[in-house]
Amino acid sequence: MSTHENTVQTIYQILHAMPEIGFQEFKTAAYLAEELKAAGFSVKTGFGGTGIVGSYDSGQPGPVIMLRADMDALAHTVHGEEKCIHSCGHDAHSAMVLTAGKVLKETGIPCGQLKLLFQPAEEKLTGALNTIADGALEGVDMVFGIHLRPEQEARINQATPALYHGASYIAEAKIEGLTAHGARPHLGVNAIDAAAAVVQAVNGIRINPVVPCTVKTTKFQAGGATLNAIPDLAELAFDLRAQRNDVMDELIGKLTRAVESAAAGFGAKGTVTIKGGVPAAEYSEEMIAVAREAIQSVLGPTGLLDPIVTPGGEDFHFFVKKYPAIKAGYIGLGCDLKPGLHHPAMSYNLDALPKGVKILVEVVNRALRKYAG
Ligand SMILES: [Zn+2]
Ligand SMILES: [Zn+2]
Repeated sequence: MSTHENTVQTIYQILHAMPEIGFQEFKTAAYLAEELKAAGFSVKTGFGGTGIVGSYDSGQPGPVIMLRADMDALAHTVHGEEKCIHSCGHDAHSAMVLTAGKVLKETGIPCGQLKLLFQPAEEKLTGALNTIADGALEGVDMVFGIHLRPEQEARINQATPALYHGASYIAEAKIEGLTAHGARPHLGVNAIDAAAAVVQAVNGIRINPVVPCTVKTTKFQAGGATLNAIPDLAELAFDLRAQRNDVMDELIGKLTRAVESAAAGFGAKGTVTIKGGVPAAEYSEEMIAVAREAIQSVLGPTGLLDPIVTPGGEDFHFFVKKYPAIKAGYIGLGCDLKPGLHHPAMSYNLDALPKGVKILVEVVNRALRKYAG
């Protein structure tokens, strides 16, 4: 396997040296597309902008399995200088997925088709949606993602077969009252009074505490230039988090009711708009079992961790949200990463990369064998 170890390290070094921000992964995508073609994959480009899909058909009937890597880096200010840095490890993810694809093309797959998706703009949380809109997930039966983990979650030679990201959404609310002269408040509806009641009502939202979730007011803007008139508009924003999608739905429902009814109590009109966000992880038990076997075969029983729950978000989970029939799995790979993801000085043990490649190769072979025909 030493050749593969060299391959993944080389690809990683090349990608690491050309970090690009979301939707601008032009050099990264061009390099990956060239490598895929050279390895014998058929390549389609332009998914969600810079996204690419490499396909390899075994010629035998069977399911379509996809390995997904993200490509984008992050913008940082280091010593007053604007820099683009691969501080979330997406260069490592792309290097591992490409190398696993090369290995599988050489050794062959038991049946069906292998697809490799290199997705743009994960950090902007819209890359997956744009990729889906361009049809990248059409016909896919199983999809796997992989992400490096900080050292607090997993060490080198350890991996989790299921990384449970939470759902996170941003909502905005508009409270519309009626303006009036400050001397005649009874002729108006004060949007600030109504908005204050809305904040209290939102703070009073109760959800079953066995599932972690929160909603917080993150913006309160009202009033303005005229200080002797009744303000007729207040704007609020809320940050919502939940570890499960059904709980997020409940939270959004209760937030909407709290805003509308608390505002109505003052004669104002409250409206809620969801500004964006990502759903929580929903994995197939079968794919978790496949990942578990794959990790154990590569890292041994001591390397296999329990599922990990993380409050962070991942737009990968839109795949299942849009295509509920797709069976998804997601591996968290330990690599002694410190001081943390999104830190400009983030670093880790590169020996983890060939292990990640081997795990992905095992995942594909095991999943296809299990679900063949
Ligand atoms: Zn990130
Ligand atoms: Zn990331």
